[in-house]
Amino acid sequence: MAETRSVCCYCGVGCGVLIAHDGTRITGVRGDPAHPANYGRLCTKGATLHLTAQAGGRCLYPELREDKAGERRRVSWDAALETAADRFAAVIREHGPEAVGIYLSGQLSTEDYYVFNKLMKGLIGSNNVDTNSRLCMSSAVAGYKATLGADAPPACYEDIDQAGTIFIAGANTAWAHPVLYRRIEAARQANPQLKVVVVDPRRTDTAREADLHLAILPGTDVALFHAMLHVLIAERRIDADYIAAHTEGWPAVRDLVEAYAPERAAQICGVPAEAIVRAARLFATGPTLSLYCQGLNQSSHGVDKNAALINLHLATGQIGRPGCGPFSLTGQSNAMGGREVGGLANLLPAHRDLNNPTHRAEVARLWGVEAVPAKPGRPAVAMFEAARRGEIKALWVVCTNPAHSLPNQTLVREALARVDFLIVQEAFADTETAAYADLLLPAASWGEKDGSMTNSERRISRLRAAVPPPGEARADWAIAVDFARRLEDRLGRDRTLFPYETAEEVWNEHRESTRGRDLDITGLSYARLDTQGPQQWPCPEGAAAGRARLYADGVFPTVSGRARFHCAGWQPVAEPADAEYPLSLTTGRLRDQWHTMSRTGLVPRLWGHVEEVMLLMHPEDMAARQLRDGELVRVRSRRGQLLVRVKAEADQRTGQVFLPMHWGGRFMAGLGTNVLTVAACDAVSGQPELKHAAVEVEAAGPM
Ligand code: SF4
Repeated sequence: MAETRSVCCYCGVGCGVLIAHDGTRITGVRGDPAHPANYGRLCTKGATLHLTAQAGGRCLYPELREDKAGERRRVSWDAALETAADRFAAVIREHGPEAVGIYLSGQLSTEDYYVFNKLMKGLIGSNNVDTNSRLCMSSAVAGYKATLGADAPPACYEDIDQAGTIFIAGANTAWAHPVLYRRIEAARQANPQLKVVVVDPRRTDTAREADLHLAILPGTDVALFHAMLHVLIAERRIDADYIAAHTEGWPAVRDLVEAYAPERAAQICGVPAEAIVRAARLFATGPTLSLYCQGLNQSSHGVDKNAALINLHLATGQIGRPGCGPFSLTGQSNAMGGREVGGLANLLPAHRDLNNPTHRAEVARLWGVEAVPAKPGRPAVAMFEAARRGEIKALWVVCTNPAHSLPNQTLVREALARVDFLIVQEAFADTETAAYADLLLPAASWGEKDGSMTNSERRISRLRAAVPPPGEARADWAIAVDFARRLEDRLGRDRTLFPYETAEEVWNEHRESTRGRDLDITGLSYARLDTQGPQQWPCPEGAAAGRARLYADGVFPTVSGRARFHCAGWQPVAEPADAEYPLSLTTGRLRDQWHTMSRTGLVPRLWGHVEEVMLLMHPEDMAARQLRDGELVRVRSRRGQLLVRVKAEADQRTGQVFLPMHWGGRFMAGLGTNVLTVAACDAVSGQPELKHAAVEVEAAGPM
């Protein structure tokens, strides 16, 4: 038996793992005691990774459907990729490069992302490449850029140990980032003075353990943060020197929050004014580390929410120092890496912006292409809407399951059925999206491929292959390279853009693209990561190590060098509850399942925590509808309905119901949770409002 050092492929904590194997089969996994993200700890999902590797259910061979009505049948890789290149080239010739799209995943490696991004923006000539990270992180990206000037979380995990207040907003850390939560628990034990404040409409496990829980109404975070700033100003708890020396835009925000007295915000947010004042005082006492995630991001005003929280840090000067800072937690294991290589419809490699002509020219030079197209591509929701309208005719879905995870499922599935040619590249055969594939390409999974990933604290870890992939499965980046060379032939180009034979060669090109940028990693190589272990960016050539915290000198990567206060008032949710749909539906994670359960759903042990999807509802709301605990109910929204059993939950606020995001059509009646959710998106980030939809619940009646 041997052990191979790698990293967990689930959440953004990015825990190091040691994979036990005999060279052909993964037999076990344990936490890597040397990895600074987890020091040997693993949560239930990480500790069962080897069971997902043993569970079967894999895509083993390419499968092609000759016509939409027919069955897919096994074909060779050569036939599969020749067909794929023919079909994509034909669409590009007949309808232009914007008639094709690629939809990626935050579960991919940085190298995978880099190649697919270059394929679309450098070879095909459109920016129609986006990712499921759009559903989880894009508001955080835009929030950081709007205020701090760059998409760079300034804090690190060590700050948990040094904080005086941990302010958790829109995150159930105990379930969604469990190893990080263990670190919070340890910090509380070591420092009894440490206070934890949780902002969450639900009384989650994280909220239950908090010193102060603000159970705000969904979508009212901006009003809460503005009211806290109002209190800080009134009580002279702001850092006027920091504001004067390192920020801009303060007078406008100061005037804006005047209208958010705690008493008024209490009306909007549905929490007592005294609790808002207490939260503000704890925030000012600090040092305060804010941890936030989907509750802020998955909103039609997600950027405003992120930025309003960052305003609090700027106003109190709590950034760039140990124990404080606005720290956005990434949902997926490599959402950060995808952002680094610009694998979104509006970004370019190394945090360059598509709308910046200089940046486009730099990338074109790096890649050796004439130009990078200026027109932004379609972000996730818009990409599938375009496919449904027939504007995207060839679509490639890589390592993700949009026929489950995107909002307003009925329309998404119409889109998948409508595209002329759909490639689904997947490790696991039984996903809702794979059922629609015209061409199914088998991909390597965790423990089977080389590469790198970046976790929430900007720390880059190496992914290493312990065993070869099963059947004919291949690494995602290698499939993209093989396809790209064939497409180069058909588009009359020389085979020059994709010379890579190894993941390391892709990494080396990505590394060079970061030279002189805020995330400069020119000092890192695979060899250095192997010998010195995971490193945080930036780590430029000559640096002794990566940098733990950013902005310690108070200089920000904006034109003026100052951080910017963001000035935007509170706006209600896109679809407020009303007489017809009087309940507010929130969706979220469970402790032991991951995303659409294509992996964790295969492991019986992980069903022990929650065996069946249930709608959580307050007993008073159930009584008003004459519903009994455990009864089958129909949940309806303007977009669709599903049948599910209801569970009485006194911790749920009245007027609100909760469904886990994990169950799709494979595990429940109907199309799953997202048949109900609304596709309203943040105007800046394009992130959909998965945290709120107006619904009604009624007895299912006779079946
Ligand atoms: Fe994996 Fe996240 Fe659990 Fe760590 S906390 S073991 S990264 S799922």
